[in-house]
Order: sequence, then C-alpha cells, then structure tokens
Amino acid sequence: MTGERIALITGANQGVGFQVAKELVANGVTVLLGSRDPARGQAAAEQIGEGAHPIQIDVTDAASIATAAQRITDEFGRLDLLVNNAGISRARSSDGDFLGDYAAANKASTASMDEIRKVWETNVFGTLAVYQAMLPLLRKSADARIVNVSSGVGSLTANADPDYPYHSMFGPVYPASKAAQNAITLAMMVELEATDIKVNLVSPAFTATNLNNFAGTESVEDGSREVVRVCLLGPEGPSGTFTRWENTPIPW
Ligand code: NAP
Repeated sequence: MTGERIALITGANQGVGFQVAKELVANGVTVLLGSRDPARGQAAAEQIGEGAHPIQIDVTDAASIATAAQRITDEFGRLDLLVNNAGISRARSSDGDFLGDYAAANKASTASMDEIRKVWETNVFGTLAVYQAMLPLLRKSADARIVNVSSGVGSLTANADPDYPYHSMFGPVYPASKAAQNAITLAMMVELEATDIKVNLVSPAFTATNLNNFAGTESVEDGSREVVRVCLLGPEGPSGTFTRWENTPIPW
C-alpha cells in the first residue's frame, strides 16, 4: 500500500492516454500505464520516468484483464482512479483522407459488420469488461473515481440536430460505439450513485493522434486537457458529468 493515488489508464502507450499518464505522474499520481503491447508500454513508461509503471492490458482479452487486476491486487491492494481510455475508430488502416474514409465507412447500409464488431469490442465491451474486473479494487479506495474517455460524436442529442457539424458522419462503426459507451457509462453511474465511487464521462477535443491519422486539429496537450482536469478532481468533485474542455457539459 502507498499513500499516493494509484491510477490505471488503458491504452496509455500513445495519444491522449499517454498525455494523461504524463500529467498525472507530474501531479504525484502513481500511474499503471496500460498497453496491449508490453514493449511499447515499457518504452512509454520509461519516457515518463519514475511514477509510471507499465502494465499489459488488452481490453478485448479477458485473461489479460484478469491478470492485470490480480497484479494490481498483489502490488497495491486497491485502485483509486480507473481511466477507460483505450479506443479505436476503425479496424483497418486508412489512407491519407481520414475524414472521407471515416464518413464512407460509417454508412448504416454498407458499414462492414466485421469492422463494427471489432470497434464495439474495444470501445464498448472492453470498457465494460475492465470496469467489472477493476470495481472490487476501486471499492477498496477511500476516494475512487472512474473516468471514461468517450466522445461528443457519440452524443445522440447532438447528432439528432442537422446543424451539428458531425451529423452527416453519424454511423454504426465509431460514432454509435461511442453512443453505446456513453450508455454503459450511464449504467455505471446509476449502479454506483449510492456509493462514494464517482463516475465521469469526458470527451477530448479533436486531437491529432493515431486514431484519426493525425488529422485532429488540437495538440495532444490541449486535446487531453479535460481528461486530465477530471482525473485530478478531488473527493469533493462531481460525479455523473459528461463534459469537454473546460467543464462544458455535452448533451447525452
Ligand atoms: P490513439 O492515439 O490511437 O490511442 C489509442 C490507445 O488505445 C492506444 O494506446 C492503443 O494501443 C489503445 N488500444 C486500442 N485497442 C486496444 C485494446 N484492445 N486494448 C488495449 N488498448 C488498446 O487514440 P487517442 O486519440 O489517444 O484515443 C484515446 C481515446 O480518446 C479513445 O477512447 C478515443 O475514442 C477518444 N477520443 C479521441 C479523440 C481524438 O480526436 N483523438 C476525440 C474524442 C475521443 P496501440 O498503441 O497498441 O494501438
């Protein structure tokens, strides 16, 4: 046991997850830096330095999740912060025109069923599986918080408005997976509302990462700010929120 906060971030070897790991460590948090590839997790943790500990976790692999939960139990005995960040936008490499490819892949009539299943497996079922495995460890914390990294493109309210900028791109692969991730986050909020465990849903900005072939317009530092802000909320911080920078509510 240590006196510091212990955080697990899934998909933290690059992008938003890596940035959040770096900033949490800078704020004194002990970060278990999740990576499905152990070598990339090791390299990312070394880049951050003391306070970052690589941990193998593939959110689509039940055995990997169980092994990670056992290791956290053995080494720390609790978890104070779970950041469900791992996510994919597609199940194949795309060429240079990310947004054109994304729009074409997200037509309800033609979207690949295999691709939908792969993306939902990570973004939706992966988030839920990690929650189920880590909840016993979060229950051991005196100040536990779960931060699910989703997206405003999963907002059903926003997407139902024809004037919403991403309205025409709403489809079953990534956007609907994020709507489903939002729905299961609401289920976590409902389940835990009578407990001291806080649950927050956040959207990074449109950030230049591998997820969008680096087509995002924000740097990882700026794009990750809301995730970092919410992860650093103290025991008096709110639960049940869905926000983007800075503390701007997103409609469900
Ligand atoms: P990214 O740079 O591609 O990072 C995604 C991370 O998730 C990588 O570390 C990746 O690992 C990991 N991952 C993928 N599948 C996994 C699995 N099965 N098990 C464990 N880890 C897995 O993308 P990002 O932009 O930082 O995305 C992070 C989160 O932010 C996602 O949930 C995304 O939906 C959300 N988001 C991003 C944006 C944006 O504009 N970038 C906007 C809104 C929301 P590998 O390195 O092994 O692939």
